[in-house]
Amino acid sequence: MRTFEFNRPENAAAAVASAARAKTAQQGADIRFLAGGTTLVDLMKLEVETPNRLLDINRLPFDKIEELPNGGLKIGATVRNSDLAYHAKVQKDYAVLSQAILSGASAQLRNLATTAGNLLQRTRCMYFRDTAMPCNKREPATGCPAITGSNRMLAILGTSEQCIATNPSDMCVAMAALEATIHVQGTKGAREIAFGDFHLLPGQTPHRETVLEPGDLITHVTLPPPRAGSRQVYLKLRDRASYEFALASAAVVLNVAGGNVTYARIALGGVGSKPWRSHEAETVLTGKSANAANFRSAAEAALRGAQAQSENGFKIELAKRCLAHALQTAATA
Ligand SMILES: Cc1cc2nc3c(=O)[nH]c(=O)nc-3n(C[C@H](O)[C@H](O)[C@H](O)COP(=O)(O)OP(=O)(O)OC[C@H]3O[C@@H](n4cnc5c(N)ncnc54)[C@H](O)[C@@H]3O)c2cc1C
Ligand code: SF4
Repeated sequence: MRTFEFNRPENAAAAVASAARAKTAQQGADIRFLAGGTTLVDLMKLEVETPNRLLDINRLPFDKIEELPNGGLKIGATVRNSDLAYHAKVQKDYAVLSQAILSGASAQLRNLATTAGNLLQRTRCMYFRDTAMPCNKREPATGCPAITGSNRMLAILGTSEQCIATNPSDMCVAMAALEATIHVQGTKGAREIAFGDFHLLPGQTPHRETVLEPGDLITHVTLPPPRAGSRQVYLKLRDRASYEFALASAAVVLNVAGGNVTYARIALGGVGSKPWRSHEAETVLTGKSANAANFRSAAEAALRGAQAQSENGFKIELAKRCLAHALQTAATA
């Protein structure tokens, strides 16, 4: 395995050209970008990921957080999760993002983990991480032992008969609610991808997790201008208070005027095969009174399509209560 370091601005194009020689898109590819390494190196130690070439992008100039002329925010791909969570504008105007990041992993991991790496972290499904077991996501067409096996932590929304893995990211749930945009440099130039279009449902191809193509380098993420007067909450429910992934989580951006909800952006974590934006819950809530009955109705709508497996049926009610409580907290903040 060889590692190449790219350390000048003009080297981004060289990194893209090198990565474009990979046989597949980023997931499981033989040539990989290396950022913080907290997902990739972890999986290499388990021999789940076996790239033959690593392209170290840590010294590319993507480590800045900048305000945009329209009032939004530009977040470089290699900005560390800690730097993003503690950035003054993020804490003030995008509090749900700061809260989500700080609810994840540990301080040490957040100091190393990057924005782009977090977008591309992989499922914690125990079968995916164990090469002695079959897994459709790791090796297509080998089977999904989780469906009849240990699935307590796994997804109830957006699953397929091929894969029921959960997307484990906290940061992504907040970015879904904030309607972020992901910016990519590829072999055909730069392009932008709306956050909701970035991650793919497992369907028949669970090994394809995003729309990225070979060579695609995430350069930055942008957030739209903050909603004036919005109240923002990230609530994460888990088995222990730190260093643990979500059983269910909710990211909420809410405007309330005269007792009515005038704007709602809602996303769920820990329950979806991708970071789960709930347009259904937003529709139910917008224009209604900001009260407990309507928060519960929104939560019912968000979980309407949920499909439980043998061990994770409890997540349906847990996620509903999580969302209703997050909405109540935001409304009374
Ligand atoms: C013990 C532990 C506990 C954790 N707990 C949580 C938790 O509670 N909540 C949570 O959200 N996360 C948690 N995480 C996951 C953590 O947030 C991710 O590992 C981290 O965000 C990944 O970022 P990275 O920079 O280290 O990525 P890397 O490991 O460097 O890369 C990850 C993937 O992204 C690709 N990549 C990186 N940068 C780019 C780029 N610019 N363009 C294209 N592809 C790129 C890599 O090739 C690789 O495929 C935990 C991790 C560990 C190890
Ligand atoms: S749920 Fe997905 S990741 Fe887990 S074993 Fe099944 S196919 Fe693999």
